[in-house]
Amino acid sequence: MAKLIPTATRYDRPDTPETLQRLIKNATGKPFLLAGGTSLGFSRPKTEHIIDLNRLPFRECRLTALHDLEIGALTTIGDLERHNDAKSFCGGILTQATDALASTPLRNLITVGGNLAAGYPWCDLPVAFLALNARLRCFDSAQTDCVSPKEISLPHDGQTTFKKLTENQFVSHIVLDGKYANARGAFTKFSRTSTDLAIITVAVTFIPDENSMRSVRVAVGGLVPVPQRLPEVEMMLEGQTFKNFEGQTFENSLFQEAGAAADVILRKDPRASDDYRRNVLKTLVTRTCIKATGVMANEN
Ligand SMILES: Cc1cc2nc3c(=O)[nH]c(=O)nc-3n(C[C@H](O)[C@H](O)[C@H](O)COP(=O)(O)OP(=O)(O)OC[C@H]3O[C@@H](n4cnc5c(N)ncnc54)[C@H](O)[C@@H]3O)c2cc1C
Repeated sequence: MAKLIPTATRYDRPDTPETLQRLIKNATGKPFLLAGGTSLGFSRPKTEHIIDLNRLPFRECRLTALHDLEIGALTTIGDLERHNDAKSFCGGILTQATDALASTPLRNLITVGGNLAAGYPWCDLPVAFLALNARLRCFDSAQTDCVSPKEISLPHDGQTTFKKLTENQFVSHIVLDGKYANARGAFTKFSRTSTDLAIITVAVTFIPDENSMRSVRVAVGGLVPVPQRLPEVEMMLEGQTFKNFEGQTFENSLFQEAGAAADVILRKDPRASDDYRRNVLKTLVTRTCIKATGVMANEN
């Protein structure tokens, strides 16, 4: 660690949220909150103070009575991947996202909270979380009197970065909306190789009501600085039938129209041109919607 952050002169390893709040409040300068530590592969903070989160009791993952899935921020991607409640949540969308996230050794280091807070455009889980109407349970280190965590919703519009959200706060849990526990969902990642950083990610969720789609959420990442939803696409799909199209194939169905409507303001990415990424986005949105229905194309 000394080699990775040579400016560091102080290291703390709190075991309660109250101690962590006090440490952050009294820190001179901005401390580095160490979770999996893998972001040090991309950026080296010039900080004097490392606060290691790994002794905090935020590693549990459980389904609540309301069917919310509460994921401790220190849960590793590997643990989430193997967790039975996570596997069955919303058609297995979390497993699809974790399977595509980096390599197995890295998945055993990267934490769910770190994946959210790192704020890199290629982070996969925030896109799935946005489609799952996630809330972040946060402790505010600016107010040490307030020892209980507050819940905040993820931003919808891409204006607020996940990083900014956690500047004065640390995340203890990510809470996934129980409304989507038995819903349909799918996640697709487009990258150069199976373990490479995402160029585009798409997550789609909806609640089936007979044959109709309700509470549709379509989120994209990778090609935008922070994950964002596609409200126009969601509106096109809301209330529509997701199976038994008469005389239609999926490819000429509303899913293709929905894909065609998908558009965002792209961030720069030297790996692929803007035109190419726009086209792939449209195809991925169509395909992810089809995958989310769980209905095979030949069932039309
Ligand atoms: C080679 C490589 C490939 C990768 N590929 C992918 C990929 O394909 N997809 C993907 O999604 N990710 C990928 N990652 C991981 C990603 O880039 C980040 O490094 C990772 O998400 C950071 O998580 P961490 O637990 O290691 O956090 P850390 O590196 O420990 O911390 C990251 C940041 O988050 C803050 N932080 C951590 N936990 C909290 C918390 N609970 N509350 C508030 N702030 C917190 C820290 O202070 C720090 O600023 C890859 C990483 C590497 C090294």
